[in-house]
Amino acid sequence: MILMKDKRAIIIKTPKLRKIRNNFRDLWLKATSSKWNNIYDRRRDMLFRSDGSRITISAFSPSELAQFRNLQSQEATLRELASRSICMCVTCGKGEQDMVYNKAYDAWYCTECYGMERLNTQERAKLKIRKLKPCEEKAIQSHSKTFL
Ligand SMILES: [Zn+2]
Repeated sequence: MILMKDKRAIIIKTPKLRKIRNNFRDLWLKATSSKWNNIYDRRRDMLFRSDGSRITISAFSPSELAQFRNLQSQEATLRELASRSICMCVTCGKGEQDMVYNKAYDAWYCTECYGMERLNTQERAKLKIRKLKPCEEKAIQSHSKTFL
């Protein structure tokens, strides 16, 4: 298990290294997408007979249903891996930016999105919104602290 610090920025300034990094990220995302498509196709194939008619899940045998659910689980895991990886911003989906890790959300943000979150946090801190319920205010403060 890899333990990450609360916050970590990965910034590469050299254009050639940025290009190499972006190409690796792109390659990894394409491999993940290809694997996801393969699993999706296998799961979709289970839903149709050779004549093209649809099979409902309720008609599956217990082992077919287990296989179907396993494929769904693999799809979700791959999607989660990609969206939470350093290869793409969890907010905007961009993958060609420098990234900042936020442990509270176990996610990587591009420096642009992270900066906007920080800015929003600082502006919210300046405004004292009194109409919020104490639990709402506490939740906002808790979220905000993760970006400071
Ligand atoms: Zn972003």
